[in-house]
Amino acid sequence: MTPYKPSEILIERGEENARVVQRALAQLPEVPVRVVDKGWERQASVSDTADPFAAGKRRLLFTRQRSTFLEHCPAGTPGLVCCNYLVVSLVSNCPMDCSYCFLQEYLANNPTLKIFTNVDDLLSELGAAVDRHPWRQFRIGTGELSDSLALDPVLGFSGDLVPFFARRKNVLLEFKTKSDCVDGLLVLDPKDRVVVSWTLTPPEISDKEEHGTASFSARLEAARRVQAAGYKLGFHFDPLIEYPGWEEGYRDTVMRTFSAIDPRRVAWVSLGSLRLTPALRATMRQRFPQTRLLSGEQILCADGKWRTFQALRVKMYRTLTAWLKETAAQVPLYMCMETAPVWEKVFGRAPTCDKEVARMLVAPHPLDHEKNVHASTSSA
Ligand code: SF4
Repeated sequence: MTPYKPSEILIERGEENARVVQRALAQLPEVPVRVVDKGWERQASVSDTADPFAAGKRRLLFTRQRSTFLEHCPAGTPGLVCCNYLVVSLVSNCPMDCSYCFLQEYLANNPTLKIFTNVDDLLSELGAAVDRHPWRQFRIGTGELSDSLALDPVLGFSGDLVPFFARRKNVLLEFKTKSDCVDGLLVLDPKDRVVVSWTLTPPEISDKEEHGTASFSARLEAARRVQAAGYKLGFHFDPLIEYPGWEEGYRDTVMRTFSAIDPRRVAWVSLGSLRLTPALRATMRQRFPQTRLLSGEQILCADGKWRTFQALRVKMYRTLTAWLKETAAQVPLYMCMETAPVWEKVFGRAPTCDKEVARMLVAPHPLDHEKNVHASTSSA
């Protein structure tokens, strides 16, 4: 993976001495630096370039988060089965550029890649929330508005977060990534409280659609290294992409993945369909005219997103579930942003409440999992 190098570093006045700023300046000594006033972004623009969204990714802005950090995952949309996942963002925007990335719509017209300097505020907020409910098991991820680890060599946030989570029994931290930037993790002690997860697509898709990410082989090698260092792993086959030859491509991807690592130390695997809003489809057409992802059989769903035609995506879910059963029978499986009827078709039943999926992922019960997988494979 090519290391991230911004075109410019912008530091909000007053944040010059923040730990993360000092770390980044030490890592990127040759990048021009400017100190800017609070609110600078509102007047800024990169619209003079051919691809303003890509240009914004290369302009690194250090600022403070002035609202709260902890949020419910936006995937918890009415009508869809929810897994009660919480997210925190220290980074807003991503150095990579997947053709299907929702940030192209969510952060459209955004002139920067923003880093929040007040990590201690995030830790205090998290500590208060988690310690207030010692009986509840939390799952918290940092990969909502960016890749969790792609900037870790520059920012070093893993060194702030992992020790904090390692001290707590009732919370799992998930780093979700398509990078191979794991060196910072290898020197920390995760004490079983940190899941490092990779989003996987067959190489013929990731090479063409996931621009700037680590190759499939590099992701697997990184997974093997963090597992050896004591981290739990997760894998997300999300988005699942339908293309000619998808069955061979995904079978090979699943088999190679689970032969490279120990499936007994995998915390979860998720499946999710490609889902695109009309605005995102329009942006993809403009920014990635060669993409193959707009040509499959897709339909507009009740939540306003285009997804692969239901019969086909159920077939894909069942097919992958059967292979996962073959290679990693005990691993808890769930689907992201799917309806209860689709859960029933794939796993034989839908969760009875939104806490059920969360409980399974935090404290998996192997027999329940076996039952679910059996139901899904026998009806395939
Ligand atoms: S890695 Fe994730 S956040 Fe980054 S561009 Fe790809 S989909 Fe978007």
